[in-house]
Amino acid sequence: MKINKRLLDVETLNGAADAAVRSKMEKLSGGLWSCSECGHQDTVNAVYKHVEANHVEVVFYCNICHKPHKNRASLLTHKSRNHKQEKTQ
Ligand SMILES: [Zn+2]
Ligand SMILES: [Zn+2]
Repeated sequence: MKINKRLLDVETLNGAADAAVRSKMEKLSGGLWSCSECGHQDTVNAVYKHVEANHVEVVFYCNICHKPHKNRASLLTHKSRNHKQEKTQ
């Protein structure tokens, strides 16, 4: 089977990366979240970063230039710095 990398489906890849991170997150009572791998507890954003950094190998792609990033925060920073003027719609 031939895979055309030019037709990289960024939305699908980023969705899969996001799902991989979220699959290791569990919501607790009181607004806290927990890492299902090691039991680390924190806010939702902190646990998301913790799982990204420690338990999964994910890549988030920029939907405009396709540059890969190791975490979602880095992608968001990249987009706000490099594609501020560009609109997707
Ligand atoms: Zn953990
Ligand atoms: Zn970009």
